[in-house]
Amino acid sequence: MTTIFTKIIEKQIPADILYEDEKVLAFKDINPQAPVHFLVIPKKEIATTNDISEQDDALVGYMHRVAAKVASDLGVAQQGFRTVMNCNEHGGQTVYHIHLHVLAGKPLGWPPYTDVLKLE
Ligand code: AMP
Repeated sequence: MTTIFTKIIEKQIPADILYEDEKVLAFKDINPQAPVHFLVIPKKEIATTNDISEQDDALVGYMHRVAAKVASDLGVAQQGFRTVMNCNEHGGQTVYHIHLHVLAGKPLGWPPYTDVLKLE
């Protein structure tokens, strides 16, 4: 399934690109949720975390290394950052091409949701 992120990869629509190589792309989130908020995506189309296969293990690990590298380039790695990959409806996923959110630039609250936690 092709999404808006494939159009960004193919440069059909613009993005504020922070890093690119043959396997991944990192770009600023258009609707930032922290002072620093960028996404790391694989160029391979993988819809959700549920669709990651064994052959993608190295690619998904590499996405984390690129997240740390770009965070370092932006000067926020040492103070720290949060990586998030939302999956499907309950995870809040809206774009069905896996992406690592990288949030940084201030202390981030935990737990990350704002609704009341009910354990039943
Ligand atoms: P998720 O809700 O986890 O699927 O995250 C999708 C993210 O993609 C959201 O944070 C959006 O703000 C972001 N997004 C959607 N379209 C674009 C775009 N054209 N450029 C940059 N970020 C985008």
